[in-house]
Amino acid sequence: MRAVVFERYGEPAEVREVPDPKPAEHGVVVRVEATGLCRSDWHGWQGHDPDITLPHVPGHELAGTVEAVGARVTGWHPGDRVTVPFICACGDCPSCAAGDHQVCERQTQPGFTHWGSFAQYVALDHADVNLVTVPRDMSAATAAALGCRFATAFRAVVQQGRVAAGEWVAVHGCGGVGLSAVMIAAAAGARVVAVDVAPGALELARRFGAAECVDGTATPDTAAAVRDLTGGGAHLSLDALGSPATCAASVNGLRRRGRHLQVGLLPSATGTTPVPMARVIALELELLGSHGMAAHTYPPLLGLVASGALRPDLLVTSRIPLDDTPAALAALGTAPGAGVTVIEPWT
Ligand SMILES: [Zn+2]
Ligand SMILES: [Zn+2]
Repeated sequence: MRAVVFERYGEPAEVREVPDPKPAEHGVVVRVEATGLCRSDWHGWQGHDPDITLPHVPGHELAGTVEAVGARVTGWHPGDRVTVPFICACGDCPSCAAGDHQVCERQTQPGFTHWGSFAQYVALDHADVNLVTVPRDMSAATAAALGCRFATAFRAVVQQGRVAAGEWVAVHGCGGVGLSAVMIAAAAGARVVAVDVAPGALELARRFGAAECVDGTATPDTAAAVRDLTGGGAHLSLDALGSPATCAASVNGLRRRGRHLQVGLLPSATGTTPVPMARVIALELELLGSHGMAAHTYPPLLGLVASGALRPDLLVTSRIPLDDTPAALAALGTAPGAGVTVIEPWT
């Protein structure tokens, strides 16, 4: 099969022939019809992810058709259209037993712990635990966007953030996950303040339901701007980018007893990120994380997509073939861009 491979961190990836994957006893191989390009792929390529061994094929948000099935898989068959959360759970550790597959103790992640979906085929583990049926009228490109960003944003805003109608929700960083969060919070009846430094991203945020936009280039203290616009601060605030500055701005833009949600990854040389903890104490803030979403919690999300209340298809702003992927991966470092790029490996 053809795949995007890199041999060294940060050096150009290339498209080349590699052996087709084979399914594990409990796994499947999926023919990849669409796979999203995500900033986590860029972090992996830069060497920020300790799970990756070289050479490596990135890619973790995908949709496609089951091609081959391991001997112990009971629920899936060749020809099934599927997507998968980017965290594949083992199904039998204590976290999985509690239903918390997104923090499974023996999780695997395509594109991190093993070769991913920037390829014509990808192997996925523990299929009976992790695969999700793609509704018949949903395109592969739309379904691919659910696997990482949209599901992550849904878990952040709805499951972890407990968003309520009428609340103010601030979203710092309006890339794929941030725009997803804007749309999901607005659909839940919240009033959304979108913060970004790119006019194009803010334009999309407004289109997806943001009531207010803060341009970080014109407004250096974005937290103060959020507090002004919301009459004292947001009830719920997401750092959807992942940087010390956006993390601090999110915490500083909260009102009393507000909830901060860290969604963007925060790699740093020391492994820690400064957080304004004095404000956390004084205002009784909650600090929360969000890490993907368990496959068994997808039905309410799929229902809102089916009803048209959520439109992940609108987030897909470009479609590229495998051959254009190495350059697009590199460009994520300098120009994260607005919206979602979907790779179609068979075009
Ligand atoms: Zn991702
Ligand atoms: Zn587990």
